[in-house]
Amino acid sequence: MPLYLTDDQVMLRDTARGFMADEGAIATQLRHWRAINCKDGFGHGLWRKFAEMGFTGILIDEADGGLGLGHVEAGIVLEEIGRNLTPSPFLMTAVAFVEAVKGTAHAARWFPGILAGETVAALAVDEGAKHRPDDIAMRADRSGNGFVLSGAKQFVVQGASADVILVAAQAEEGLTLFAVEREAKGLEIEGVRMVDSSIGARLAFDRVEVDADAVVGEVGGGAIMLDRALAAGRTGAAAELVGLGSAAMEMTVDYLKQRRQFGRAIGEFQALQFRAAHLYSELEIARSAVLKAQQLLDEGAEAAPAMIAAAKAKAGRASALAVREGIQMHGGIGMTDEHDIGLYMKRDRLLNELFGDPNFHADQLARMRGY
Ligand SMILES: Cc1cc2nc3c(=O)[nH]c(=O)nc-3n(C[C@H](O)[C@H](O)[C@H](O)COP(=O)(O)OP(=O)(O)OC[C@H]3O[C@@H](n4cnc5c(N)ncnc54)[C@H](O)[C@@H]3O)c2cc1C
Repeated sequence: MPLYLTDDQVMLRDTARGFMADEGAIATQLRHWRAINCKDGFGHGLWRKFAEMGFTGILIDEADGGLGLGHVEAGIVLEEIGRNLTPSPFLMTAVAFVEAVKGTAHAARWFPGILAGETVAALAVDEGAKHRPDDIAMRADRSGNGFVLSGAKQFVVQGASADVILVAAQAEEGLTLFAVEREAKGLEIEGVRMVDSSIGARLAFDRVEVDADAVVGEVGGGAIMLDRALAAGRTGAAAELVGLGSAAMEMTVDYLKQRRQFGRAIGEFQALQFRAAHLYSELEIARSAVLKAQQLLDEGAEAAPAMIAAAKAKAGRASALAVREGIQMHGGIGMTDEHDIGLYMKRDRLLNELFGDPNFHADQLARMRGY
């Protein structure tokens, strides 16, 4: 499959680009919710507008009321979210959660709310400082007709505002996923402001009782669905990183053309031109890797996991380079809160850690290749 977008995908990109630049702009979204210390960190009105645009149904099958599109299309929206640092539950809800519960009884329960932009979902996987999905200690013990959940989760993006949280826990039969509603008795949710000003959560499960129908799919069969959610989440986060890095680069290149020093625009200095050209190349390689990963995921290809690991690692490194070069080349103003470039650096830190940093994914790829 060629590494460019089809005509329909270009149309979606143009629509998403216009929508996000107007409705999802930094001044009216990120800075606004941050300034008023919003407990959710994003606007529910904007989430409903995402639904009106059809974005929330991109990965939901047509039979379930969605658009039945794929990860390339979800990534197109995420790239525009990344460009504008638009705070929204799109990645966790409409991408990772939707992929996890697709084809299970929970689809009928949660998809209508997601399609309407009313429901917010979160994924509770990580328990330690780093992303370690193979290291889940949380317990799910059988009790009567259902289960009792005990343990703790952290870095749960949108965990403080989610209506439903997909929780990974160890049952006797193996890893199992549960869809836990926020009102569940014994579930303590502590909102935490993250480095990029978004609100995440720490969750404490003190013997939380759930019915058997909270199980997503089969008891002991959670690994398959968790893999699906993580593959979608990682590919989506990589697309958002490419958008974020591209916007940081464009701001920086604009600045190099404007800022005058020593009687000329600083962009006339070859040393800065080399750095800008290097950055452009790195982002183009990252964009190609991400598109390839999206296409392979949509095809259900065997090579998808390796390409997803490569894409998340490459997008993370390219985006980190873009924001660092951005701060450096903007000189002293890059350090101030008034200038947006610093906000890109903060969001980059979070997205790099989310679903595994470049080292994690390089390690995954090396293992897959038998190093
Ligand atoms: C409060 C504060 C604390 C800081 N702390 C640190 C710190 O701990 N570590 C750190 O690394 N940075 C730090 N910085 C950032 C660093 O000081 C600036 O990025 C750097 O000094 C930019 O130079 P300038 O202010 O002279 O900017 P400008 O003169 O506006 O220069 C802008 C750009 O031109 C480039 N440039 C400047 N001179 C030349 C030249 N002769 N030829 C070609 N290009 C040139 C600069 O590198 C920069 O990219 C800090 C900045 C502030 C405001």
